[in-house]
Amino acid sequence: MAATSLSAESAIAPMPPLTDSHGRVIHDLRVSITDRCNYKCVYCRTGEVGAQYPELRIDEYLRLIEVFVGLGITKVRLTGGEPLLRRHVVELVRQLAQMRTPAGERLDLALTTNGHLLESLAAPLKHAGLNRVTVSMDAVDAATFERITRVEGSFAAVLAGVRAARDAGLTPLKINCVLLRGFNDDQIEGFARFAREENVVVRFIEFMPLEEGRLWTPESVVSLKEIVEALGSFRPIVRMAPNAPSETAVRYTFDDGVGEIGIIAPVTQAFCGHCSRVRLTSDGKIRTCLFSQSDHDLYGVMQRGGSDEEMVQFIRRTIEHKEARHHIGEPEFLKPSRSMVHIGG
Ligand code: SAM
Repeated sequence: MAATSLSAESAIAPMPPLTDSHGRVIHDLRVSITDRCNYKCVYCRTGEVGAQYPELRIDEYLRLIEVFVGLGITKVRLTGGEPLLRRHVVELVRQLAQMRTPAGERLDLALTTNGHLLESLAAPLKHAGLNRVTVSMDAVDAATFERITRVEGSFAAVLAGVRAARDAGLTPLKINCVLLRGFNDDQIEGFARFAREENVVVRFIEFMPLEEGRLWTPESVVSLKEIVEALGSFRPIVRMAPNAPSETAVRYTFDDGVGEIGIIAPVTQAFCGHCSRVRLTSDGKIRTCLFSQSDHDLYGVMQRGGSDEEMVQFIRRTIEHKEARHHIGEPEFLKPSRSMVHIGG
C-alpha cells in the first residue's frame, strides 16, 4: 500500500511565535508566586504595606505556565515577593522540570530570591530541577546590608544561602545589587572583590521608580557610567561579549580575567527594544511591562472555565499590545499601577 503523503493543508502548522506589534519575540516568562516578603528593603517597601494580592494554587500556576510554554516560552523565572516563602515551591519546580517545549526541550528554570531561606532550600531546589538562582544582595558588609533590609541577622543568612546555592550547582550564580546614592554606593569595590573571591557574577542594577513609597529621583540613580568608573579605579576592566541579543546586562571582567560584573542600566541605557519578557503576577494577571498601567486577567479567563485555546487567544491579544518602551525620566512618566514587590521582579 502506498504511503499517504500529507498535503500542505493537512500538515500540522507550527504555532507562530509569541510576538508583539513591535516585532519582538517573547520567550521569557517571570512568574510571581506570592507578593509576601520577609524583607523591608528601604528602596522597595514603605515598611507599612504587606501583601496586597491573592496567590493562586500551585496547580493553577502550572496550567497557566503550560499554556505559555505551548506558545514558545522557553525560560521561566519564579519570583515574588519572596518566592521561597511559598509552600510547595520545590514541588512547583519539580513539576516545571517535567514540562517540555513544543520542540521537546526542557525549560530553562530560574528563581530570584533574597536568599534568606536559601541555605536549606538550595539542594532540594537543585534536585527538583532548578537550573539557576539570582540572589538579591545590596551590600557586602553586614551593617549596611541590615540597614537596607531592616532585618537583623539577614546578612549572615544570605551569605550562607549564596554559598549553599553555589555548592549545590545552581550556577552561574548571579547576585543582583540595586545601587542607591547615599545608601550603598560605597559598596562597588567590595562587590568587585566579592565576585572574584566567591566565584559569583555580580550585577549592579540602576534604581527604577518602582517602589511603594516616593523615594526615586533621577539623582538617586547611580548610573552605569559611574559604576564603570568606580570599577576601573579598583582594577582595569575589560568589556565582555553579550551572551544573547536580549541580554539586559553589559558585562565586564577584570584585566586578569577573574570575576564577572554585569551592569543593568534600564534608566540611562534602556534596552526595551530587545525586551523578550512578560510577567505573570501572583494573582494570575499578565503584565507586559514593569511600567504597565494595567494588568490583564488571564486567571479570570481560566476561572470562568476558559479552554486552553481561549487562554492562547487572550495571551496573544495581550502581548500584541506590549508597550514599546518605558518613559522613566520623561515628563509624561506615570508610576506603574503596582510596585515591584507586587509585580514580581
Ligand atoms: N524577593 C526576591 C528578591 O529579593 O530577589 C524577588 C523579588 S524582588 C522585588 C526582585 C528584584 O527587584 C530584587 O533584586 C530587588 O532588588 C529588585 N528591585 C526592587 N525594587 C527595585 C527598584 N525600584 N529598582 C530596581 N530594582 C528593584
